[in-house]
Amino acid sequence: MTSVWEWDDATLALVTAAERLPLAADLDLGDVVVGDVESLKPYRLLLARLAAEVDRVRAALGGDPRSLPNCTDYRSAAVALWGEAGRYAHDSYARIRAAHFPELPEQIPIVIGLTAYGGCLGLTRGGWEHGPRISLHSTTTFGRGPRYVDDVLLHECLHVWLHLTGRNPKHDSADWYTAVRRLSPAVLGRELDVTRGSDRKSVRVPNPNHQPGVDDRKTIVRKVRQASEHARVARWPYAWRPADFDYGEQIPCPTY
Ligand SMILES: [Zn+2]
Repeated sequence: MTSVWEWDDATLALVTAAERLPLAADLDLGDVVVGDVESLKPYRLLLARLAAEVDRVRAALGGDPRSLPNCTDYRSAAVALWGEAGRYAHDSYARIRAAHFPELPEQIPIVIGLTAYGGCLGLTRGGWEHGPRISLHSTTTFGRGPRYVDDVLLHECLHVWLHLTGRNPKHDSADWYTAVRRLSPAVLGRELDVTRGSDRKSVRVPNPNHQPGVDDRKTIVRKVRQASEHARVARWPYAWRPADFDYGEQIPCPTY
């Protein structure tokens, strides 16, 4: 038993921290003798070993440890949280990465549940300190079948890839369209000849700023977007599947 009550605060903190470690139970740290610095040595050594171990793990993870999540196995976490659905999402990600985006990390966090805005199938949160994170809607994706999950995940992976490679991740960006054209033969089995802005046409509309003497133009020309094609490009690839496409048997997944 240590007698620390007569020590200063720093020594007290050192000894209590060392004794709290699960390791401490297996080691004979000896008693702390008041006034005997030598008796503190095992405690200091134990904490130093722990600090070295933390540094070693951080180095193994690579990069700046403060910017890394402390979970390196998102797949195991997802299996623990969502069972078969979590396992499927991560295995699907691995296949998508291998086939289309080898630059992406081996694993990324994929969250399954109810997504924001009600109707979203999936979402990608790009710009926070731990890197991109994908959210998948539990019922509207897994409930429709594995190949639907693949499509939604592929869509989200494209957002992630654009984000991580410094491109514009938005649906109406030239980068999105370029990637959709590049990936479509492999994903949909056919070329997709889509061009950004091609569904815009010029129309003449009343000038909202019309004011005699100030702005005499009664009408002005505006570009308006024709419905449909862009909406489908923004929901690539699933919006391009035939109506009778076989998505497979639904995967059970808790709603929340
Ligand atoms: Zn999207």
